[in-house]
Amino acid sequence: MKKMPVLFLGHGSPMNIVLENAFTNSLVKLGKTLPLPKAILVVSAHWQTKGTYITTGRVPEIIYDFYGFPQELYDVTYPCPGVLDQIEKYSDVFKNAAIEYDDQRGIDHAGWAVLKHMYPNGDIPVMELSLDYKKTPQEHYELGRKLAPLREQGVLIIGSGNIVHNLRMVDWNLDAKPYEWAVKFDDIVKKYIIEQNHEKLIAYKNLGQDGVLSIPTNEHYLPMLYSLGLQEENEKIIFSYEGFQNASISMRGFLISE
Ligand code: ZN
Repeated sequence: MKKMPVLFLGHGSPMNIVLENAFTNSLVKLGKTLPLPKAILVVSAHWQTKGTYITTGRVPEIIYDFYGFPQELYDVTYPCPGVLDQIEKYSDVFKNAAIEYDDQRGIDHAGWAVLKHMYPNGDIPVMELSLDYKKTPQEHYELGRKLAPLREQGVLIIGSGNIVHNLRMVDWNLDAKPYEWAVKFDDIVKKYIIEQNHEKLIAYKNLGQDGVLSIPTNEHYLPMLYSLGLQEENEKIIFSYEGFQNASISMRGFLISE
């Protein structure tokens, strides 16, 4: 079997769940053009734990981990299957990466808000991976590498976060003009992604004041390091989307493939 591509996706505001815009259209397009996955693994910005966990429930609960949004968002469901029936196939990979199972935890909106657009039928089994808050950026990157054999088994791995994510400076207008520091930081990250200079991206704390403003907390940035950790030297990058929402959120996403 051909190796599955790897994605990093910006997910941004939960409002995207019910909107049709250039960003959500880019997700629809990915769903239609990528090889059909046997399962999906989402590295979630919205699940932080001590140690690393993977969801293994049969029918994962859909978690509405956002507050104060219009009722129509909470009326949306995404009843996808979990991976319980095929978990044995992946157990060596998870064991090797010291990833533990959680059969109770559901899928949060870092996962289903994008999958809703990519795979609206909800018929592909989904699992989510947590972020160990004790790990360094380098360790997150290396853990990403350990997931590589899953690609050969038809698993689509998606890092879901945002490269620039500053909620304190958010403008509630989705289409607000982005801050200059946000654009500059997103540009420098883009440059290092193209150059495959992962060291600079792992050491993001050395990227100056624009980085401090763009990554006030790192949980939305770290999922990208998992995706980059999976890039082989001969693999290319295609940006699936670039742009901003709410002035301080980069929606940049990319696809890694042979
Ligand atoms: Zn988020």
